[in-house]
Amino acid sequence: MQNSPKPENRDSVEQDQFLTILSREEALARFEAALFPRTIPGETRPLADAIGHALAEDIVAPIDVPPFDRSNVDGFAVRSADLASAGEATPIRVALNDEVIACGSAPLLQVVPGTATPIATGGPVPRGADAVVMVEHTQPAGDGRIEIRRAASPGQFVSYAGSDIARGEALLRAGTMIGSREIGMLAACGIAEVAVARKPSVAVISTGDELVQPGLPLRPAAIYDTNGAIVAAAVNENGGEAAFLGAIPDDERELEAVMRKALESCDMLVLSGGTSKGAGDVSHRIIARLGQPGVIAHGVALKPGKPLCLAVCDGKPVVILPGFPTSAMFTFHDMIVPVLRRMAGLPPRSDAKVMVRIPVRIASELGRTEFVMVSLVEGHDGLIAYPSGKGSGAITSFAQADGFLRIEALADQMPAGSEAEVTLFTPHVRVPDLVIIGSHCTGLDLVTAPLSRAGLSVRSIAVGSLGGLAAARRGECDLAPIHLFDEASETYNEPFMAAGLELVPGYRRMQGIVFRAGDERFEGLSAQDAVRAALADPACIMVNRNQGAGTRILIDRLLGTARPDGYWNQPRSHNAVAAAVAQHRADWGMTIAPVAQAAGLGFIPLAEEHYDFAVVTARKRRPAVQAFLDSLASKETRIALEQAGFRPA
Ligand code: AMP
Ligand code: MG
Repeated sequence: MQNSPKPENRDSVEQDQFLTILSREEALARFEAALFPRTIPGETRPLADAIGHALAEDIVAPIDVPPFDRSNVDGFAVRSADLASAGEATPIRVALNDEVIACGSAPLLQVVPGTATPIATGGPVPRGADAVVMVEHTQPAGDGRIEIRRAASPGQFVSYAGSDIARGEALLRAGTMIGSREIGMLAACGIAEVAVARKPSVAVISTGDELVQPGLPLRPAAIYDTNGAIVAAAVNENGGEAAFLGAIPDDERELEAVMRKALESCDMLVLSGGTSKGAGDVSHRIIARLGQPGVIAHGVALKPGKPLCLAVCDGKPVVILPGFPTSAMFTFHDMIVPVLRRMAGLPPRSDAKVMVRIPVRIASELGRTEFVMVSLVEGHDGLIAYPSGKGSGAITSFAQADGFLRIEALADQMPAGSEAEVTLFTPHVRVPDLVIIGSHCTGLDLVTAPLSRAGLSVRSIAVGSLGGLAAARRGECDLAPIHLFDEASETYNEPFMAAGLELVPGYRRMQGIVFRAGDERFEGLSAQDAVRAALADPACIMVNRNQGAGTRILIDRLLGTARPDGYWNQPRSHNAVAAAVAQHRADWGMTIAPVAQAAGLGFIPLAEEHYDFAVVTARKRRPAVQAFLDSLASKETRIALEQAGFRPA
């Protein structure tokens, strides 16, 4: 691909690479064509060490299980013909043979007509007997005899030899992932070791100067290495054996040395980060020197995940996942897992899928296959999927989502109301006991804490107050937390109620000015004076809030027509405002008292906001809703809210 870029212009060289973006299908096809067919190396493993491996060959049962006709109960081995006329009023007497068949003892005596032999659960049925009667249905009759008050059908309480597993039967197929159940079947047949596919060893490397391993302190401007842990875990979940080699700084020579060493000892290399066009992104350059044929796709029409780089170096897959954790995970599962599983001798993943309805329109970029994480709730006529993504840089959406849906490259949106297929992250749909959709608040976690402790599952989907109200009106949630100010009546929330909803008072959140404690421009002033002081100092930088936020209305009222430095910095959360001030990127902003308190910042109270709950009346009787309302009213929760800086209503 030598389109003669101007050598002095690095940017155009980089742009050039992304001009050859492949479709998802084309990239995967080329990647697989370069890797397969290949022989899957095998090994023999003791049963206990075979867990998580794929069987290399079909297993044929070498014996019958059970190996003999076995009694299923404690009782007496009998001839059913002897008991044909037995009943409550017409008991039959039989003589006991002079042996007791315990588990593991082979019978010596035949059961002849008119006799029975005591037998334990698991004991081999003796010659002559064709049924077992339970001890509960018999009574000692003295003289070495018993009375039986029930007839027995032939084969009653007997498991015949080979009825569980028949000798010669195909027990397990090649490619089965060995888990505890498979180990149980193999052990029952007396199999001590099995031929399995050797797990591909996969070197996992994170790249980036900014990465710090969990457990170590975070330096300024650094972030924790998320991909290292999540990629290694996903490798292990899909039949590979991950070797995590740490986070390597963006240094071409150091990274090349680590990659070369890893390729010597591993079957596959998975890096993350450094694949985009940013300065210092070096890993994709190194691949070209590592082996043939080298890079197969750099740039795939996926969202998230466009900068994905797929390569094969002398037969070994080398992959660079995008740096953002969500992008890294989607591309890993969609494009790398199929290859990894084939190398591990496993069949393709069979993730559970469900049909859902989409309550809100989801916009999508034309030309890229888009993955959207969703949370599922139960609607009137089936499951409803709310998009739960917070952008490709977010990691929590992964843990809180139930699965994802795919918007094909040719669609530019998924309209509200459309049907879609969701691939589940878990084997089953987990329908939560309590569904909360609306504005999120850290105080809400304090209210739901007792529910979680009581074993009730709570799903909280943050879509803002208005989105929550709409969901509540459609009956998609149990309650919607809202804080909506009505300018006309100058009251909160009540004016927004609709039929079928009732407002339950929650708590108050004090809004005010945050600043770094000790900043003399603000210390001791009223909110109005503090803003006046800030506007008087040209060096003072503010941090604003997004349009539509209740907090923004308060800020705009205080500022009037002034547009100080920082006005256009408009983050979407209370916490982001506090972080900007704490980290000196801004000197003041407006947030709620609990957030200022948690961040150790100075705070000037301005106005109280009402955070209440629009409860769906039709769902109010549900136990989980009652538990929520009980918690809200409880002394314990009220104290917890007060301690965190909220004021319960
Ligand atoms: P890059 O592709 O290296 O430019 O990375 C894109 C974004 O992903 C940057 O914000 C990185 O800080 C972030 N990132 C890269 N690697 C990791 C990682 N291992 N864990 C968490 N975030 C990462
Ligand atoms: Mg990087």
